[in-house]
Amino acid sequence: MPEGPEVRRFADALDRTLGGKPIVSLKARTKTALSWQKEHPTGVLLNKRIERVLSHGKHLVGLIEGGYYFHSHLMMWGSWAILDNPPQEIDRRERSRIVVPDACAILYSAPIFDLGTGNPFEIVENLRTLGTDILRYPDEKPFDAPEFLQKLLTPENSDRTIGAVLLDQQIVAGIGNYLRAEILFDCRLDPWRKVADLTGEELEHLIHSIPLMAQRAYATGGFTVSDEARTRLQNNPSLVYTPGSEYGTRHYVFRRTNLPCLECGRTIRQLRQVTQADEEGEKTRIIYFCPTCQGTNVELKKSKSKRKVVAANENIIEV
Ligand SMILES: [Zn+2]
Repeated sequence: MPEGPEVRRFADALDRTLGGKPIVSLKARTKTALSWQKEHPTGVLLNKRIERVLSHGKHLVGLIEGGYYFHSHLMMWGSWAILDNPPQEIDRRERSRIVVPDACAILYSAPIFDLGTGNPFEIVENLRTLGTDILRYPDEKPFDAPEFLQKLLTPENSDRTIGAVLLDQQIVAGIGNYLRAEILFDCRLDPWRKVADLTGEELEHLIHSIPLMAQRAYATGGFTVSDEARTRLQNNPSLVYTPGSEYGTRHYVFRRTNLPCLECGRTIRQLRQVTQADEEGEKTRIIYFCPTCQGTNVELKKSKSKRKVVAANENIIEV
């Protein structure tokens, strides 16, 4: 699933390809975009320039001349592709196709693509309520730690776990499952620590680690490890599942279950963690961690997690 750094790289590529150019055609296949097009004059976007394509968290926005915009969210499987010569045939996964004079951008498999008028950051609810972005643009001020801390430390979050709140896009925008595991490991933080129990030192570490990990993943195309750790992963077959595979050298803990921790040599573990609990039930995500470095009592978390899942749902989820 694309997280903030991956979406930013799509936005950069679209900005380079589409930015400043007039729209030759814009086809959309999502319900919301189709109904917007029905409500507006045919061809209203034709020949309008795409002024800029940017991202905030996992959302991508294209600003179009005349106060129009397009907006996409890739969810689990979506991706943007840029092509010099677009295929004539429409792939059934295609959600949108934006053509400019010398190129074309196609959105595949994303459930969210909409069109609108006005400032999307005020109009689209999911954008309006987003927390501070983990990745800032060079012309913006750095990661907004005060805003993050203010949202994190509101009373309603006191009892939530840090592993759950890092995925809450309204608190901080752009973190998904790999970044949260890597940030928590970098901070040596137990994913099950309650927000109210975090010390000043731990909060300091978090506000340093979030933009650092995000920037590193953005700059390197998804690596969260330091150069030194990457070299160790490349050269020591006992630290990876498949020696020679680049994927296994990307992260400290994410998808490194049962392999030795790069810091202490003990075994990396994975467990399901409750990340959302409301009237609709509980949602869980797999968290990867080093029990030793992060001080997690695995047996305790295992039994607690099992009890909770069974109580909430008759279908027992393996934990
Ligand atoms: Zn460790």
